[in-house]
Amino acid sequence: MAASQIFNFSAGPAILPPEVFERAASSVLELRSNAHARDGEGIGLSLLEISHRSKDFDAIHTGAIALVHEVLGIPDSCEVLLLQGGASLQFGMIPLNFAAAGRTACYVDTGSWSANAIKESKVVAETRGHETAVVASSKSSSYDHIPALPASLPEQACYLHVTSNNTIFGTEWESLPEVDTPVIVDASSNIGSRPMGLERATFGYAGAQKNLGPSGVTLVWYQREWVAAQPPQAGVPMILRYKTHADKGGLYNTPNTFGALVLKLMLEWVRDNGGVAGMATRNQAKADALYTLLDSSSLYTPLAKSGSRSRMNVVWRLGGAPSGQEDALTKRFVKEATAAGFSGLQGHRSAGGCRASIYNAFPLAGVTALCEFMQEFERKG
Ligand code: PMP
Repeated sequence: MAASQIFNFSAGPAILPPEVFERAASSVLELRSNAHARDGEGIGLSLLEISHRSKDFDAIHTGAIALVHEVLGIPDSCEVLLLQGGASLQFGMIPLNFAAAGRTACYVDTGSWSANAIKESKVVAETRGHETAVVASSKSSSYDHIPALPASLPEQACYLHVTSNNTIFGTEWESLPEVDTPVIVDASSNIGSRPMGLERATFGYAGAQKNLGPSGVTLVWYQREWVAAQPPQAGVPMILRYKTHADKGGLYNTPNTFGALVLKLMLEWVRDNGGVAGMATRNQAKADALYTLLDSSSLYTPLAKSGSRSRMNVVWRLGGAPSGQEDALTKRFVKEATAAGFSGLQGHRSAGGCRASIYNAFPLAGVTALCEFMQEFERKG
């Protein structure tokens, strides 16, 4: 947690609530006997030095998983794992475990992260022999919207992979698609931000470093029955099989123990602040404030089309001109914003412009202050 006057709009790793920072920090110095409670007895040891097989860590691990069900609404029929390797490892593990020759892995291409998932499916297909189909894409319009799905998916479809929020281009699915094919969702950048039908996913995953805690822990959940029914795939190392992790209660190898605690603290914070529905109200208010300003401005142009706009990552350009002039203006905007205490507004290099990431923990006051700064920047020219 940085100095108090800085509003951090980082796309991830991102801001966490002050009380989560505080409790995580105190657990590094000394873990409480009941894992995290403010008034618990200290155990005389840091969270960072206890065994992942100890009862103290077990309370953290099982507590975190219980909260994934309770707070995020992931059904009890789902296995929940806290893995490592980021969402990027899931891009490879998914086709390794679920694609087979004669089947078609289907993807919707809505931005760089979807494109990376597609790339990994194609790499796996070099030996596995499955097809990779991009069934819908918004690439030709610079990923400015969520494309419509085709009327039907390929007959041999084994899954449909979607990215529920596109962190770089600032677009978001309204809700998970309802199709007959099992849906796999990368929910890294909007998990827990609003009700969006995540419980309908057959398989889901999310890197924690936006809405769920620190980097280095990836939440994975899936319908046990569906995964058990998939034919075993040859040549997959043990650590890359979901079954390996599930059979060992999620502790096949040493997990990210710190990440598990912070994830648990984050889910408690969401629960205690109105749950996912409460997050939705807060997040909508923040996003509305920014989009209203962008839509009424002649200086700022939002990148995402309405109907596809992300409540988590708001992306805009300055000046409206595609030339180098825009770059100079953007640079000046970011420099002045940074000096005024608004950090992390530089857009991703592949989208350009500016981006305000306003995840669950980001306060409305920060958005209000940014809107005032942006209006003043536009007024003074
Ligand atoms: N998917 C999405 C939607 C993301 O935003 C990101 C990272 N920002 C990734 C995947 C990749 O995550 P990681 O760096 O944890 O592998």
